[in-house]
Amino acid sequence: MTFKDCVTPSSRGFVFVTKNYLLSILNHKVFPLATASLFSITMLNATLIKRIDITPELVVLRVEPDAGVPEFKAGQYVALGLPGAAPRPASFPAEDPAPDPTKVIKRAYSIGSSPTVRDYFEFYVAIVPAGSLTSRLAMLNEGDRLFCGPKVTGHFTLAPVPSSAHLIFVATGTGLAPFTSMMGLEETWVPGRTITLLHGVRHLEDLGYRDELEQLQEARGSSFRYIPFVSRAAPPASGLSGHVTRFFEERLAPYTPETHHILLCGNPAMIDAVEQVTVTQGFTVHSKKEAGNLHYEKYW
Ligand SMILES: Cc1cc2nc3c(=O)[nH]c(=O)nc-3n(C[C@H](O)[C@H](O)[C@H](O)COP(=O)(O)OP(=O)(O)OC[C@H]3O[C@@H](n4cnc5c(N)ncnc54)[C@H](O)[C@@H]3O)c2cc1C
Repeated sequence: MTFKDCVTPSSRGFVFVTKNYLLSILNHKVFPLATASLFSITMLNATLIKRIDITPELVVLRVEPDAGVPEFKAGQYVALGLPGAAPRPASFPAEDPAPDPTKVIKRAYSIGSSPTVRDYFEFYVAIVPAGSLTSRLAMLNEGDRLFCGPKVTGHFTLAPVPSSAHLIFVATGTGLAPFTSMMGLEETWVPGRTITLLHGVRHLEDLGYRDELEQLQEARGSSFRYIPFVSRAAPPASGLSGHVTRFFEERLAPYTPETHHILLCGNPAMIDAVEQVTVTQGFTVHSKKEAGNLHYEKYW
């Protein structure tokens, strides 16, 4: 492969070095470190424009992709990434083995902003100190560059849910993101439909978006109910102690498989537990093959 094979002429007369050429240099181990970093840097196609720290382990990140925000459906996700060479906090557990510094570590993140927001994607991210990517995202400052996958994907949307159905959204931690995106769309608020949002966290301060959700409850009146569940501390006045599964075990509000769809997102143990209870109450898991009224997105 020659350099000529690997460059693309641009409309302004410049040439762009293609990924294949950079890879061929890497494979031949010519200038290994410098070209490796160059390769990673060329992959960074987005800028962090806003960072809001909810707690040391929960952050809201607004990311502006260079190519703009593509069309997407509320509930879908994209990949975010940083090179293995990106710094991590010294206080976090050391990595053994350390990842390849030249490779971009990528993970999926649900888009929390509404599809009507066209300037940036908003993400709600849990920092996992031993995690490969989030321990690096933890060090990002506004203005820093990162990778944001150009392809938005995912089936955890309201597309298969009839507009006549009432909705019960169930999130643990950052599993709230797809629901903030859905609730940001006016078409989700079908007249006559009720939306109940259960948000399960360990501590009161982990209730990200609480102010916005309380304001939404005031604005939407009887069509929206926000119920925070706090498992390891006293809940707020509007909330309950324990886990979100309580809502279904104790039937804390009326719902039926004929009138409601349940959407679950976050911790897989919560999703399995709620599925177990609600299946005995007549709900069926939605799949590509068979329509159901229980939908979920497991984060790990
Ligand atoms: C479709 C999809 C959408 C996702 N959207 C989000 C999102 O919007 N926000 C988000 O924070 N994460 C989200 N995740 C999880 C995310 O992709 C990563 O797995 C997570 O950020 C950890 O990456 P890491 O490289 O730091 O950890 P890794 O080194 O990959 O370690 C993974 C471990 O981290 C823990 N973990 C993973 N996700 C979480 C979490 N959210 N909260 C607490 N512990 C976790 C689990 O123990 C898991 O086994 C999503 C996952 C999927 C599959």
